Amino acid sequence: MDSSLIQQIVVVGGGSAGWLTAGLIAADHGGRVQVTLIESPDVAPNGVGEGTWPSMRYTLRRIGVLESDFLRAADASFKQGSRFDGWVSGSPGDHYYHPFVLPQGFGETDLVAHWQGGHRDVPFADLVSFQPHLCAAGRAPKQAATPQFAAVANYGYHLDAGKFGAFLKAHCLEKLGVRYLSDHVVGVNSLDNGDIASLQTAAHGPLAGQLFVDCTGMQSMLLGAHYGVPLLSQKHVLFNDSALAVQVPYPQPDSPIASTTAATAQHAGWIWDIGLPTRRGIGHVYSSAHCSDDQAENALRAYILASSGQDDIATPRKIGFSPGYRARFWHRNCVAVGLSSGFIEPLEASALALVEMAAAAISDALPFERAGMDIVARRFNADFTYRWERVIEFLKLHYVLSRRADSDFWIGHRQAESIPERLRELLQLWRHRAPARSDFGSTSEVFPAASYQYILYGMGFEGSASARGRDHAGLADEYFREAAQLAARMLPALPDNRSLLAHIARHGLPSI
Ligand SMILES: Cc1cc2nc3c(=O)[nH]c(=O)nc-3n(C[C@H](O)[C@H](O)[C@H](O)COP(=O)(O)OP(=O)(O)OC[C@H]3O[C@@H](n4cnc5c(N)ncnc54)[C@H](O)[C@@H]3O)c2cc1C
Repeated sequence: MDSSLIQQIVVVGGGSAGWLTAGLIAADHGGRVQVTLIESPDVAPNGVGEGTWPSMRYTLRRIGVLESDFLRAADASFKQGSRFDGWVSGSPGDHYYHPFVLPQGFGETDLVAHWQGGHRDVPFADLVSFQPHLCAAGRAPKQAATPQFAAVANYGYHLDAGKFGAFLKAHCLEKLGVRYLSDHVVGVNSLDNGDIASLQTAAHGPLAGQLFVDCTGMQSMLLGAHYGVPLLSQKHVLFNDSALAVQVPYPQPDSPIASTTAATAQHAGWIWDIGLPTRRGIGHVYSSAHCSDDQAENALRAYILASSGQDDIATPRKIGFSPGYRARFWHRNCVAVGLSSGFIEPLEASALALVEMAAAAISDALPFERAGMDIVARRFNADFTYRWERVIEFLKLHYVLSRRADSDFWIGHRQAESIPERLRELLQLWRHRAPARSDFGSTSEVFPAASYQYILYGMGFEGSASARGRDHAGLADEYFREAAQLAARMLPALPDNRSLLAHIARHGLPSI
């Protein structure tokens, strides 16, 4: 049994994945292990992850960041969920919300049955949650007096990925004792047993460690290239493999900042629109098999012209990706986090959430000595395979439920052979009852049953109301009233996003 102690951890890569992982491990284990992050001066980070989940609040708090410092430094704003436009039929006015707040009284009674029984004139999310009303009105999820990281309405962030990386780097180096090397890794030196002994760097010689975290982005230098762990392609399930991204100024300096990521369906993909304090980040994700780069750029330009009247935008940046995830994530003394472990597409912004989960899982289970590492690796691999499969099913749900028929892209996404078997089974069960917590019982769940409800009933999924639910009609009506009352009370009490962010930039936020 190998009793060598885990004392030096080397993180390769200075994108969001590298800095978040280095920060979490250093914050939790700083006294016991030395974390070194090496980043190539020749390979720029991906730089487009701009939407996060509410989990980012806990991650930032865990590494000791002040929310007001983060908001200022990362040019960040508040995200309360997603708004989907044109996904159901593509007709004018076709939209629905997937808010971060759970339905009022979720799990207490069958809200879906009662919505179907007597309230279908109101969109599902608007009836069961106050949050879509805040989003529609551009309200912030908290007040100036709400403490750091606390919420009136659950929220994550929209942020500038480049500035976020620089902020995390400064925090990791100045506050958490992470060592930093700017150098290019050119090779791997192995032990006889196949473990990595050290990384060969261009300028600093070998860099030794007992655990190596591969955050090298899509090239997956250690796990993919060195160990040959294959990427399991998911292109037959989710067709998007290309993106064009651009930053667009606001028409006026005081233009409203949206509370949601807007996801607008296109002929062969969709366009994201993310509002930061100083600019919008807009991008078109599409399938190269169904749409040329020129067609995609024209659609992006048309969207920007229609939504802001601007036609002189910068040249969009093209990003190609192979949708898929690795057959294993932790192999020997190497674990991949971030794009090196896989990427599907940015719908529902799950990539950074998976980074947070992976970094936390590594830190929580960090083995003390090499002998324990294979056990931790086995469990990590099982958990994260489960999570990637669930992410794929949830993203696919958005395409399966669409009734759009304007291209082979949308029609193809509904063909049975492209739908994962577990999702097909769940859809069969949900014909007669709503998604419930018991459908998602693992501790490794990524999306809760409530998220499935928001997508299913936002997209007009036809299923019959359950008998159980009808027994509690009075209770459901109370929750519907409660959601409406909360919306009525919060709307005048919450500031708009821009006013609150300007206030925080000047005065900060109170401590908890
Ligand atoms: C189009 C698109 C949109 C996205 N939108 C979202 C979103 O809204 N929300 C979300 O959560 N996620 C999103 N993502 C995913 C998100 O961008 C990534 O999860 C996140 O940026 C993490 O990237 P990374 O750190 O894994 O890799 P990268 O940012 O690519 O960083 C790789 C790092 O490895 C270093 N490196 C590479 N080779 C070497 C070497 N040989 N030696 C030393 N260092 C090396 C590089 O210098 C760099 O620092 C999106 C991704 C794409 C493609």
